[in-house]
Amino acid sequence: MATQTNARRPLIVGNWKMNGLRADARALALDLATRLRWHLTPAFDMMLCPPFPLLADVADAIRGSDLGLGAQDCHAKPSGAFTGDVAAPLLKDIGCSAVIVGHSERRTLHGETDAVVKTKAEAALAAGLCAIVCIGETESERDSKRTLEVVSRQVDGSLPQGATATSVVVAYEPVWAIGTGRTPTPADVEEVHAAVRARLGTRLAGGATDAGAMRILYGGSVNAANAGQLLNLDNVDGGLVGGASLKAQDFWTIAQSCH
Ligand code: PEP
Repeated sequence: MATQTNARRPLIVGNWKMNGLRADARALALDLATRLRWHLTPAFDMMLCPPFPLLADVADAIRGSDLGLGAQDCHAKPSGAFTGDVAAPLLKDIGCSAVIVGHSERRTLHGETDAVVKTKAEAALAAGLCAIVCIGETESERDSKRTLEVVSRQVDGSLPQGATATSVVVAYEPVWAIGTGRTPTPADVEEVHAAVRARLGTRLAGGATDAGAMRILYGGSVNAANAGQLLNLDNVDGGLVGGASLKAQDFWTIAQSCH
């Protein structure tokens, strides 16, 4: 899917978080796969990231479509005595092409540091998965005007060794905008994305060329009404969508608003 195509083609990723049962998941995935199959020239790539136990059902439902499959986390090691964790090679084996690492809910609720996120992203790359690396400032960091400093530090600390424009996608998600219905202004989003891209240019082996080709997604309360404004900015290459990805029509409308 997506991660192998034109590097800056918009990518819309649905993060289902801890939602859904098997029947809902299959129905939602099938609905989107069918829409994608009938859409002659989609201007976007689309990916679903269901909870681990639903990956096999969703893989089955989307088989033969261009819909991508991703997971929401992985362990840093490829196997071993890590009860409850899931290894990147298994995600690849089950049909995933990508995995989200460093989502703010993992950073906050599971104490994941930039260093941990980096090792997970490296495990993803080693397994042949694209790492969707999440970064973003808290409300107090924004209020104290430290947003650019925080996201730059997160880029430096979380980016896997060997990252390229096709093996990594960055998702900028202000923590205070996730699930709250609040969003930054489009100008604020563009300012952060431009700064992240400039920072990537100093960190990637491929320099500014790779940074210019890497997809940077915006996430945080994207919905069918605001997607057109938030996702079509110069340095925004799609969205990471939580709540609104659980409704096929809303998610589809968000994807279609990307051009
Ligand atoms: C997310 O979980 O990555 C997210 C952006 O959630 P929401 O769209 O619900 O704010």
